[in-house]
Amino acid sequence: MKYNWNNYHTHTFRCKHAEKDAADYARHAAELGMTRLGMSDHAYSPGEVSHPTHMDFDMAEDYVRACREADGLCGVRVLCGLECDFAPEDVSFFKEYYLGELGMDYLIGSVHGLKNHPELLNPFSPQPFGIKELRLYTDLYVGLIESGIFTFGGHPDLFGRPLEVSENHMGWTPEAASCSREIVDAAKAHNLPLEINTSGYARSRERNIPFAIFPRREFWEIAADAGIRVLINTDAHSVANLDADIEPAFALVKELGLKRVELGDDGKPAEAAQ
Ligand SMILES: [Zn+2]
Ligand SMILES: [Zn+2]
Repeated sequence: MKYNWNNYHTHTFRCKHAEKDAADYARHAAELGMTRLGMSDHAYSPGEVSHPTHMDFDMAEDYVRACREADGLCGVRVLCGLECDFAPEDVSFFKEYYLGELGMDYLIGSVHGLKNHPELLNPFSPQPFGIKELRLYTDLYVGLIESGIFTFGGHPDLFGRPLEVSENHMGWTPEAASCSREIVDAAKAHNLPLEINTSGYARSRERNIPFAIFPRREFWEIAADAGIRVLINTDAHSVANLDADIEPAFALVKELGLKRVELGDDGKPAEAAQ
């Protein structure tokens, strides 16, 4: 692999829309020359009954076991984390159960939808995602940052595409820019790294969109101005995609002068090879 880089956003079969388990990813990570691997499957949120894209409550313990067993395989240090769908009422559960009782190494905070109404705020559902949804998204994302329990924020620019679809143009709106600034300012104030998520490159290609819907360049220009620290992650849902599309993300980081971090053995952000 061309880059001195490790991935901290990796899913397993437990979330019902990804494949394989921690050991499979660790073996492939070693083949790619990675020294560290962060597992971050989709977390169960309190009250969910068989959520279609989250692991079930009773899978969490087995997930931790699988991550711990994979640790050290082929010389790869495996961290055990989760990607949590942020809702303010779930913060204490995430903190006490996942970080406390199960002893996980880190949590990613993400916004994929509105709790109990995932179709209302899901950028990939056919539902419109306009100004109102952007407002809800931004408030949730700022709340995620302010909660203080997450190690980094996942794909903060996930709203890149839906605005365009709902407004029938490809441009970047003043609302998108101001919401981006709100998110970036909150991240700066709480010193929280944000994730450049390379899975958006494939999603853009699939939809024949001639630029990246995310990582959305305009968002990262604002982040660069504020001196936000970033992680480059692939959000792998398959072993084959463990290092998918990291090249354009590295080019973006270099071009905008963003400061890249990784996670250390303790699961905390640490300086990365630039
Ligand atoms: Zn996500
Ligand atoms: Zn993910």
